Amino acid sequence: MQQVSLVEPGKIELKDVPIPEPSEKEVVVKVNTALTCGTDLKAYVRGHKLIPMPGTFGHEYSGTIAKAGKGVSNFKEGDRVMGVHSAPCMECRYCKKGLYNICEKIMEKKALGAFAEYLLLPAHVVQLNLFHKPDSLGFEEAALLEPLSCIVHPYSKLRFDEIETALVIGAGPIGLMHIAWLKMKGIKVIVSDFFDDRLLSASKIGAYRATVPHNVEEVIKETTGNFGVDLVIECTGQQGAWEKAVNYVRRGGTIVLFGGCPEGTNVTYDTHRLHYDELTLTGSFHFTPEDVRTAYQALTEKAIDLSSLISGEFPLKDIEKAFALLREGKGIKYALKP
Ligand SMILES: [Zn+2]
Ligand SMILES: [Zn+2]
Repeated sequence: MQQVSLVEPGKIELKDVPIPEPSEKEVVVKVNTALTCGTDLKAYVRGHKLIPMPGTFGHEYSGTIAKAGKGVSNFKEGDRVMGVHSAPCMECRYCKKGLYNICEKIMEKKALGAFAEYLLLPAHVVQLNLFHKPDSLGFEEAALLEPLSCIVHPYSKLRFDEIETALVIGAGPIGLMHIAWLKMKGIKVIVSDFFDDRLLSASKIGAYRATVPHNVEEVIKETTGNFGVDLVIECTGQQGAWEKAVNYVRRGGTIVLFGGCPEGTNVTYDTHRLHYDELTLTGSFHFTPEDVRTAYQALTEKAIDLSSLISGEFPLKDIEKAFALLREGKGIKYALKP
């Protein structure tokens, strides 16, 4: 089978390798669609500590069960499936506290390699985080389960009855999914980004106001009557944006720091703002099995329409064309078809 290998930043090779065989409780998925993601782009451009090189590549997928190992009872050959590439161990100190997203082993044994004809899924992923795909949902949107699970994660801790307005900083694929999710929850979303085409995508997916960063304070003033937004979602992973994020929220508001910055980045905050205005700053990493189920439900019940995120499709062999476009800032996500 054909399998993409990321040899080093900027260097992709298409290899011919044997089709994997599932061991007990594992399955092999014949990939129908694998989507590009911001993490993949980061790895391709500058390397990524969670994506070892040289190595297999791609983690957003949907497809059909090609072969199920012994002891797999809920899936059989020919079943159409959608899933994520990781699952918690359920045994470590974090899992015992219910903090499944930061499981000590969540990034071990994850199933990278969706950019290939076939993908082997380990037993714990099959057991917890693989689902049947209904025929009513296309393979392309079904492959959005993984990024949507990440999006859903911070909201499980928030009280939506306290949130009427939100600011999303950055309208890349992740920012756009946050906008769609917040809009679905009935929240007025302001979005800021430097690029016109991204602002246009943001308006299409449901942003109430889309603005360039230097006008954002004005737009917040107009929208909230000088109050400040209830919630800020930082999606750029830029130090400056992390620091500015606290300026836009009302007293008692929440800032979700969703975009990860490069390792070693430090930020500075005004202690008075944090203390006397009682702000909540929270990181967000990965997702729990419950988040995956929430995302699955939203996709399969069509509560949310994310089809506009997929800018086009390429055969797997043309994967470099997709990354070349993303590198130039063209398109949101691309579907790769083996
Ligand atoms: Zn992803
Ligand atoms: Zn664990």
